[in-house]
Amino acid sequence: MSDMPPEDDVTARLEAVRHALRRAERTAGRTEGEIALIAVSKTFSGDEIEPALVAGQRLFGENRVQEAKAKWPDLRERYDGVELHLIGPLQSNKAAEAVALFDVIHTVDRQKIAEALAKEMALQNKRPRLFVQVNVGEEPQKAGVAPSEVDAFVAKARDEIGLTIEGLMCIPPADEPPAPYFALLDKLARRNGLKGLSMGMSADFAEAAAFGATHVRVGSAIFGSRPRTV
Ligand SMILES: *Cc1c(COP(=O)(O)O)cnc(C)c1O
Repeated sequence: MSDMPPEDDVTARLEAVRHALRRAERTAGRTEGEIALIAVSKTFSGDEIEPALVAGQRLFGENRVQEAKAKWPDLRERYDGVELHLIGPLQSNKAAEAVALFDVIHTVDRQKIAEALAKEMALQNKRPRLFVQVNVGEEPQKAGVAPSEVDAFVAKARDEIGLTIEGLMCIPPADEPPAPYFALLDKLARRNGLKGLSMGMSADFAEAAAFGATHVRVGSAIFGSRPRTV
């Protein structure tokens, strides 16, 4: 992401990311516009997010249920068609709020969460789309199903718990080239008949596009660097 506009110019940075994503799609031989760009707005205020909404961005990612609940109802009243994606860890005691607030949940990674979501989806008669998070680097500090357990977990979520799983999501190890991890996620998804691949962030979304990403999650390249650690 060289030649990026200044951090406070969200409109220009969003346009630069869209442009880079279209270029990556062309380079990878993919259809232009087929990859969903999720603007990750965690830690940024409604005022900071608004220029992206004005520029037509409608897919947003948040990693905390409480933070999203504080920011998005108001923005949603003013902008139609917002699609909210939960990309952070989910506790089962927040399942009700998550189902109520989010359109897509990328972080299903435990039986308890899968069951809590299924129960809430039935109660609320609302079906957010679901991705299973995979801990592709098998890092102890990271959430996600181990690669060797993906097949069994997906089968259980589908066949026993009755969930529809759209795809897999990963956050590769920060200090290694991401390509082998993107390839692994693609392989695991194909093997389980899943079409969705949520992978690629500010530093590597173009590479993720080459490995078949259907959803990229881009934060700092659009909104600027985050002051707080999240
Ligand atoms: C914060 C976050 C992102 C966005 O990261 P950037 O490097 O700022 O683009 C993507 N995915 C997840 C799960 C995140 O928590």
